[in-house]
Amino acid sequence: MAHFVGAIDQGTTSTRFMIFDRSGAEIARHQIEHRQILPAAGWVEHDAVEIWENTLKTIDVALAGAGLGPSDLAAVGITNQRETVVAWDRETGVPVAPAIVWQDTRTESLVSRLDPSYISEKTGLPPATYFSATKLQWLLDNGLRDRAERDEILFGTIDSWLLWNLTGRHLTDVTNASRTMLMNLSTLDWDDDLLRLFGIPRAVLPEIRSSSEIYGFSTILPGVPIAAAIGDQQAALFGQTCFAPGEAKCTYGTGGFLLMNTGTTPVRSSHGLITTVAYRFGDEKPVFALEGSIAAAGAAIQWLRDQLGVLDSAAASETLAGQVEDSAGVCFVPAFSGLYAPYWRPDARAAIVGLSRFHTAAHITRATLEAICYQTRDVVEAMAQDAGGSMDCLQVDGGVTANALCMQLQADILGVPVSRPAVAETTALGAAYAAGLATGFWNSIDDLRANWHEDRRWHPSWSASRRTDGITRWQAAISRTLDWPTP
Ligand code: ADP
Repeated sequence: MAHFVGAIDQGTTSTRFMIFDRSGAEIARHQIEHRQILPAAGWVEHDAVEIWENTLKTIDVALAGAGLGPSDLAAVGITNQRETVVAWDRETGVPVAPAIVWQDTRTESLVSRLDPSYISEKTGLPPATYFSATKLQWLLDNGLRDRAERDEILFGTIDSWLLWNLTGRHLTDVTNASRTMLMNLSTLDWDDDLLRLFGIPRAVLPEIRSSSEIYGFSTILPGVPIAAAIGDQQAALFGQTCFAPGEAKCTYGTGGFLLMNTGTTPVRSSHGLITTVAYRFGDEKPVFALEGSIAAAGAAIQWLRDQLGVLDSAAASETLAGQVEDSAGVCFVPAFSGLYAPYWRPDARAAIVGLSRFHTAAHITRATLEAICYQTRDVVEAMAQDAGGSMDCLQVDGGVTANALCMQLQADILGVPVSRPAVAETTALGAAYAAGLATGFWNSIDDLRANWHEDRRWHPSWSASRRTDGITRWQAAISRTLDWPTP
């Protein structure tokens, strides 16, 4: 009998394969980073073949490291970076263009022509370069249209790319589809009006399925059902066991993403949040979420490390920021690809303001950690206004939560406690849970709730006036990033 469930976690910066037991404890993992290809200002690409090869390698190494084989796995689930698009040849399976990553802003002029109320009424999304539709439109307009119309090409988000490589079937799940700006939130099907608007032939798109069902089997893992596909943020909500309306989590990876379960009815936001599908079990009713997406969270740390060169590693940000008491008035708004929730300003560009000669890399690094927290606070405020009622604790996860100083600042800036679970890898865990539920490895969501344990909690320590001063300065900094005349 198989005692474990596996999860492929295909993130923006790396691919992981993780193995969990019935208690939700991690048994093994292997992780490989992939290249961030930055061919021009605002362009971000990935190599889909590199991602697939890394997926295979992570599966092999994690299984071998734990002394396990495919027969030890009851099921495998997939979770993935959302919105990123891949186009490949239907016959050969070879990608026909670089994957365009969610952060890519090359389609800004296409987005500026869209009618926000029309798009958001149909999809629950404000028009933005973030989503997949204009990326597909751009690929079609830049050399792929003839081949797409001859039915030679398939399009998909990363879940589709992996499912196609694993099972040979062209499928996606409803959470990923809900981020394309092509799916109608009421019918949960591709919207013909939107397909016409973006000039996308329906035949190139995958079939939309639930997030938790058996999609097929793979020769790579003989006998193991591939039984979940779910966008990474939705998977983290699942892994944090936020199954009841009102339960929420914030994941801090490359971007930051706060999702709140709103139950089986979609709640429309009037404060700059996204209405999205949280998950769907097989034929059951879909569950919806409100989401506040932040474009740059850990990405700002990566920028300090890779572009500015002031850090040797992401973890060094904690030590460097810890050398100073505060940012001494410096604010950093990391709007590298515009501002997402709740502002939705593609024209915004990053700014570091309030500098004098006194300031050092330590102040800028501390301001970067604070920026992650102020951006999250903006989203928490919007969520409170939309959902009516405030949060009494924020459940957190993701790479940045390894930074205890950043989490302390988050509690300080929010004025509520911040709680991190024992299994920080909630994204992979959520995919494993969804796959294990589809195959009867776990019987119910109550089994999963019993697996959740707190690892650490941070309590607010700032005075109310310090918090107010910080927020005022942050808002002033935000206003200085808007309407930037980019070259
Ligand atoms: P993703 O799934 O988006 O690839 P992860 O959850 O793996 O993201 O988190 C990776 C991000 O976390 C990177 O942007 C990295 O800079 C950041 N990060 C990792 N460790 C730390 C740390 N100790 N302090 C601050 N940021 C960190």
